[in-house]
Amino acid sequence: MVRTHCWAVLEPAGKCARSGCRNPVVVAMAFCNAELLCNVVDPLAAIFMSASIHSDLHCHSHFSDGSLSPEALLFLAQSRGVNQLAITDHDTVKAYSPALAANAAELGVSLISGCELSCQWQRRGIHIIGLNMNLEDTAFRQAMLQQAEARGHRAEAIARALARLGFTVDLAQVQELAAPGILGRPHVAKHLVATGQQPSMAAAFKRVLGDGKAGDIKANWPELETVVGWIVRAGGVAVLAHPLKYKVTLTKLRGLLDDFKQVGGQGIEVISGHQEPSRVKTLSDLASRYDLHASMGSDFHTPGQPWADLGHIQSIPEGCKPIWQLWS
Ligand code: AMP
Ligand code: ZN
Ligand code: FE
Ligand code: FE
Repeated sequence: MVRTHCWAVLEPAGKCARSGCRNPVVVAMAFCNAELLCNVVDPLAAIFMSASIHSDLHCHSHFSDGSLSPEALLFLAQSRGVNQLAITDHDTVKAYSPALAANAAELGVSLISGCELSCQWQRRGIHIIGLNMNLEDTAFRQAMLQQAEARGHRAEAIARALARLGFTVDLAQVQELAAPGILGRPHVAKHLVATGQQPSMAAAFKRVLGDGKAGDIKANWPELETVVGWIVRAGGVAVLAHPLKYKVTLTKLRGLLDDFKQVGGQGIEVISGHQEPSRVKTLSDLASRYDLHASMGSDFHTPGQPWADLGHIQSIPEGCKPIWQLWS
């Protein structure tokens, strides 16, 4: 059964007209008009539920560049059989609150604190996932403030870089697009599309915001060592995010992993969204070569992207040490 509830059958208050369900996922989905099944068990979820742990340790809420609220992510995770979830917004942990923790407990989802931190290594932009930090740690809270400030300065630098190319970027409008989240490149891309300066988000990234383009400003980010230090000192585990997305040679990637290990990194994403088996093999070999624990995450941002869909990821391959061994 598909598409039992589309936006057309939702009442204004967000209650499903058919079942009376007020599941916030349904409400969130309604706004993006994606397919979502209310009160219908996802067939994959049934399989995952039979396994002991099904994790998704990399996803984004509307506090960064995702489209769903943390509560909606929780409901979606549960409907997909995910019983261990980390919400890893870019450079913010605003998704986490006592109310969310209570919701998670009620739904039987083990909520792990998480954050995807931006840093640089050899002047390349690198993402490090921090998991299981103490979010009350004073130094970590200070680090979050520092990252927010860096994002602010970076946004201004992006606007200047794009102005030099003849674009007009109104940062107040970009901030509105980003609300309630922090401002990132996807919001600038959205703004360029909304103001008719680019035909699509993809074009905006390809032309000006993607890797190595004028709007890909990295100078504001701290060094890899600093970011790993923040995570470790807050009692967390540092994981190299999506290692095959950095467009570097395998030799460079090994250099990165050498340095990452040296500064206290403990994990690597062996499963990052939908991946070819050969890539999973490359990553699990790297995990064992560098004696790193393996993490798994969809990098979910919004419904309708099957390559990064919450909970729809394969398990960690046999022989890898699951990252959650480090906290459970
Ligand atoms: P930021 O943290 O501001 O550097 O933005 C990074 C986010 O931009 C990533 O997490 C992706 O969601 C998005 N992104 C990066 N590259 C692309 C791309 N080529 N096309 C679409 N979105 C992208
Ligand atoms: Zn993102
Ligand atoms: Fe990332
Ligand atoms: Fe991400």
